[in-house]
Parts: sequence; structure tokens; C-alpha cells
Amino acid sequence: MKLEDYELGGINIKSSDFKKGKVLTTEWEPNLKYAWDNGVAIGRYLAGLKEGRIIARICYQCKRIMLPPRMFCELCFRPTDEWMEVKDTGTINTFSIAQVNWDASRRGKDEPPLLPAVIEIDGASPGMGIMHMLGEVEPDQIKVGMKVRAVWKPREERTGAITDILYFKPLRAPAKKAGARKKTKSKNAAPARGKR
Ligand SMILES: [Zn+2]
Repeated sequence: MKLEDYELGGINIKSSDFKKGKVLTTEWEPNLKYAWDNGVAIGRYLAGLKEGRIIARICYQCKRIMLPPRMFCELCFRPTDEWMEVKDTGTINTFSIAQVNWDASRRGKDEPPLLPAVIEIDGASPGMGIMHMLGEVEPDQIKVGMKVRAVWKPREERTGAITDILYFKPLRAPAKKAGARKKTKSKNAAPARGKR
């Protein structure tokens, strides 16, 4: 049975009935302003990014250098003790090759895949990493354990956000695959490798 086959009760209303005031309505102007508090640790972390610095936090008891920083150690159950600047280099812990955007929409045909990665930052304790994007690297060149460096936005464009780092790029140019013929940069690299 289709919906049209049912005899529905009630009275049909038209949009003009609303305008003419035949239907009870109410109007409400929502006031949806809101603010989000970064908190002490993330606030300092974001302020550091604006200056091109990555700030961690130390717990004296377990000796961990935590990144992103936090004011409370979840292992020792006590407040953390000190700020510490770490490097803007690190190691790829894990990564993904994403063919979809953040909102799960498909990437365009000519758009390269996004390369999100967890990067363990040098100077922080092992396993302490931040999630960010990789750049200046081909997807098939990425390896777990690869050393990378932050590529920062120009100072005047930074806003105190994680996006003040544009992406992380390999510290050393990744070795080109045998037989790979890329137009970019391989012109000089390929003959040199052949002589070895
Ligand atoms: Zn601790």
C-alpha cells in the first residue's frame, strides 16, 4: 500500500495560512554566542605555536615530558611541574593516506590525498605525539619511523592555532624508488645514485 491510499485525518495547511495568522506560531531570535576556554596548558601550547615554539610539560614524579602539555599527570595523579620547549622535529608514529576530506566528502579527482600522521616530537617522552599533516612527500615514500620537521606559517600569519604549523615534511629527501621518474628534483638525484 502506498501513502496515497491511506485516508489521512486532519486539515491540510498551506504556507499562506502561516502568513495570515491562521496557525499558532512563535518567533524566537536565538542568541548562540559561545566561547571555549583553552585552559592553562593548551592556552600556553597555542601561544607557543604563535611564536614558532612547541611547549611541553614535565611531571617530576614519572619524569615524562608530555605533549600536548597538561596540568595534571594521569599516571601519578598529581599536578605537573614545569614547562619545557621541545623541538619542531619528530618521527612518524603512524600515518594514513586519506581520499576523503575532514567532513567525509570525497576528494576531487585532481586533489592529492590528505596525509594525516601522528608525529612523536623530539624532546618529548616516547609515545608523546601530535596529530598533524604530512607534506612535500609522495604517499608511497612515507614510512613509519621517518624523521620529519615542522613547516611553519610565516610569523605574521600565525594565530595561535595548531594550523600555525602547515605540515611536517621529511627531514631528508626520501630515497626515490628505483625506476621512478619524477619530473621534480629527481633530475640531479638520479644520475648520482646510478654511479654508486
Ligand atoms: Zn607523572
